[in-house]
Amino acid sequence: MKIILLGPPGAGKGTQCKRISERYGAAHLSSGDILRAERKAGTQLGKEAQRYMDSGALVPDQLIIDMMIGAIKKCPKGYLLDGFPRTVVQGEALDKALAAAGEKIDAILNLQIDDSVIIARMSGRRSCSKCGAVYHVSNQPPKVAGICDSDGEMLSQRPDDKPEVVENRLKTYHAQTAAVVGYYQKVGRKVIDIDADKSVDAVSKAIFVKLDALK
Ligand code: ADP
Ligand code: AMP
Repeated sequence: MKIILLGPPGAGKGTQCKRISERYGAAHLSSGDILRAERKAGTQLGKEAQRYMDSGALVPDQLIIDMMIGAIKKCPKGYLLDGFPRTVVQGEALDKALAAAGEKIDAILNLQIDDSVIIARMSGRRSCSKCGAVYHVSNQPPKVAGICDSDGEMLSQRPDDKPEVVENRLKTYHAQTAAVVGYYQKVGRKVIDIDADKSVDAVSKAIFVKLDALK
């Protein structure tokens, strides 16, 4: 299964990808998670990406395209793209790479949600820097406050989830990323809208109904 999840930061893409991956077995490829791993490892890419990520801007297209096309090539059986493509240029590059490999995306899901809900979600997001598990202080709390259920590590707030950076990330989304939906519609791809302003279970259910229908 090859799926793209579109939607603003904080819409719940990562949360839903984990569940989709468990149900259908496709690899979860989050461009943000890959960049954070590069930063942690101190690679050249991680160093270059740092200033863009910290300010809520997008990392330059060519760096992201090379990184994500490389990641996709390692997952021939299927993947869930989370956070990529984030510009029309990235969407075009992905289409070109897929066409060259004779592959196609099975579905494009667009998680829809208002900015006002996103701000509350992102300010309460906590993540495990070891395993990447994502929680929310009130919507999806861990069993013990501040501690990851899976590995007992301390949870932390992403620096780019601070209010001033969140504001920039939303501006970036509206200015550069929202157009990706229009791009796919223009090239004749069906984009499946999902109401993401529901409980995690309700959103998963809506997604599973659509993905089950693909089989
Ligand atoms: P994205 O990957 O789109 O940036 P996340 O999956 O990390 O978003 O979710 C952002 C925050 O919102 C997290 O703290 C997560 O626990 C919480 N969250 C995700 N989906 C929902 C939902 N349906 N209802 C309430 N909170 C949610
Ligand atoms: P995310 O974890 O998806 O919220 O991404 C965190 C940050 O990584 C973003 O604010 C961007 O700075 C950067 N990033 C992630 N994916 C992309 C992408 N496809 N294109 C450009 N920058 C990206």
